[in-house]
Amino acid sequence: MTVTSPSTAYPVSPRNRVKRVHERGSYDRTSVHAILDAAMLCHVSYVLDGQPYCTPTLHWREGETLYWHGSSASRMLRHLTQGVAACLTVSHLDGLVLARSGFNHSANYRSAMCFGTARIVEDPAEKAEALRAVVDRFYPERTASLRPITPQEAKATTVIGMRIEEASAKVRAKGVADDPEDIGHPVWAGVLPVRTLIGAAQPCPHVPEGLARPEMLAAYAEGRALDEALLETQRRYEEAVS
Ligand SMILES: Cc1cc2nc3c(=O)[nH]c(=O)nc-3n(C[C@H](O)[C@H](O)[C@H](O)COP(=O)(O)OP(=O)(O)OC[C@H]3O[C@@H](n4cnc5c(N)ncnc54)[C@H](O)[C@@H]3O)c2cc1C
Repeated sequence: MTVTSPSTAYPVSPRNRVKRVHERGSYDRTSVHAILDAAMLCHVSYVLDGQPYCTPTLHWREGETLYWHGSSASRMLRHLTQGVAACLTVSHLDGLVLARSGFNHSANYRSAMCFGTARIVEDPAEKAEALRAVVDRFYPERTASLRPITPQEAKATTVIGMRIEEASAKVRAKGVADDPEDIGHPVWAGVLPVRTLIGAAQPCPHVPEGLARPEMLAAYAEGRALDEALLETQRRYEEAVS
């Protein structure tokens, strides 16, 4: 039986109830969205003829719908076109946790698991909007400055949408959790934080001299954490479309 949580939270069912280390789990939309929006990379899993597949790809979110896209020839997308159960996960590795026993080594992380029915986006208006969003969500207002998409390019691209039916977030954000009797063991223990940072830009050699990187890409300043940049660009995108 599905237990319905308050409207700010996803419904909780046996499918998405966090069982192992359940105190790290949550179901509120804000927590789940923050983990999804802080990433470009996700993994989409589904079962095809009894064989599980787990495909890494890029995703973006509009309200309660997750989108991803790919070549119309992609097996994954052809399969999902039929409308199938799918699970999309995002995970951030935030720290390496070195304990005083192998058993208590761990990782700090934020992860989200979303369940729904993936469907091909057939409506031309929704597809056109999605193909704009896949650029503008990450690079604010960039579509307006690009060579417009051709009908052939649009035809060659399949967009998949999945309304989030149920979801869970799981977060570990703490130090070493050793057994009390191990604390005196004379070995180094602690957390090694992990971040993915934006590197120095490498302009294409064909960019005309004097053509600067637009201000709209300021979120991706060198040295900035990617997850922060992606949260900022998602906020800007939501403001732009609201
Ligand atoms: C970077 C990273 C490293 C990890 N390292 C380990 C490890 O070394 N060992 C280990 O046991 N676990 C690790 N985990 C946690 C792991 O993802 C699972 O939560 C855990 O293994 C329990 O899996 P389960 O299927 O038994 O969970 P269950 O609690 O039985 O899963 C039930 C439901 O809980 C939710 N859920 C479970 N896990 C997650 C999750 N991570 N994020 C969001 N929702 C979730 C889903 O809705 C799922 O359907 C790690 C996670 C991350 C992101």
